[in-house]
Amino acid sequence: MTRALKDIFSDGFPVQEQHEKHADFALLSLRASLSAYFETYAAVGRNLANVERDDPKFDPKYYYSYTEAYLRAVLHAHHFAELVIKKILRDKYRVLALRVDKLNTVLFDLLDGKNVPDEELQKVNTPEFGESLDRLVALVPGRISSKAAQQIKDNAALLRKLNVLRNRVWHRGTFVLHYSALDELFGGHLLGLFASIANAYGQGSPKPIWRYTPLACGLDPVDEIVKEYQQASPSQSKVALLKEMARAAYHAPAYFDPRRHTNARQVIKDVWWMTARKTEEAKAARLSQSPDESLYDIVICPVCGLKTLLRRADMIDPDDVDGKAICLVWEVHCTCCTFTVPNNLGNPTEHGYTQIPDLFEGHEL
Ligand SMILES: [Zn+2]
Repeated sequence: MTRALKDIFSDGFPVQEQHEKHADFALLSLRASLSAYFETYAAVGRNLANVERDDPKFDPKYYYSYTEAYLRAVLHAHHFAELVIKKILRDKYRVLALRVDKLNTVLFDLLDGKNVPDEELQKVNTPEFGESLDRLVALVPGRISSKAAQQIKDNAALLRKLNVLRNRVWHRGTFVLHYSALDELFGGHLLGLFASIANAYGQGSPKPIWRYTPLACGLDPVDEIVKEYQQASPSQSKVALLKEMARAAYHAPAYFDPRRHTNARQVIKDVWWMTARKTEEAKAARLSQSPDESLYDIVICPVCGLKTLLRRADMIDPDDVDGKAICLVWEVHCTCCTFTVPNNLGNPTEHGYTQIPDLFEGHEL
């Protein structure tokens, strides 16, 4: 038997000021949005070439997985922007983070300069996204001069478009951007802007909770995707490879952060990490001994840095390749961080990342 509804609905906890830097909803929403955006490649995988422009070959099961990731990416991106705008307003003028079209006691208490407890403030509705944005734009730079506020004002037109996109999902549920358009929106506009706003907004946080675990290969997929979209002809397969690296990095256990464990003061954590590392690598090694004809070998994963990247290969008939038997790697999959890419994305070196050994190769036997 469950409790009364009023007991269930009151059984929560407020995000207190002292926890704000750790559990900031805006930064958590950004994390959820980026993680979902990076999933859109995994949602289509080998079907990447068929997802464009309503190609009839686009398998419905990929359509649903893409659309679900799309919904999370757009809704959380909008939520991040809305919460940052309202926090900036609230920090300067608490009254401007509230709806002021209906008179109420809380409003007058704030205007009188009285200290209104958070519980009372939470009883008053907040303005719509567009209204909050208009208020912020009107106050920058004369009355609000933070870097994050200025960036929001400079990109107000983009954020209004994002609001429309979100409303087409939230209120109507009728419109989804194509895969390549979503790449252009995030790669060409939102990723760079949101990373910059989040860095300015989250200053003082113990760690940037919106970001993924740093990659073992040293690449930062957000920076690389932003750079790629500054090129005249961005490579969709290069961006797909970076998206998959970022998606897997969100799944890489935090204790595998290679930079965190170079500090001598973290000896105990390092010992724990080494134990966990051995466990993960032993698990991958056991899999390699199972009867699976497609398993070729295990190499170091460029995302989590462990020897847990299984490479799967096919034997190519000697009659097809000048009489020589060839073993061709067609997919890599990490049993630790879940990084998975097929060979049609190409080797990282083909995209300019020479620090990562080739994942796909053909060997003469
Ligand atoms: Zn991995």
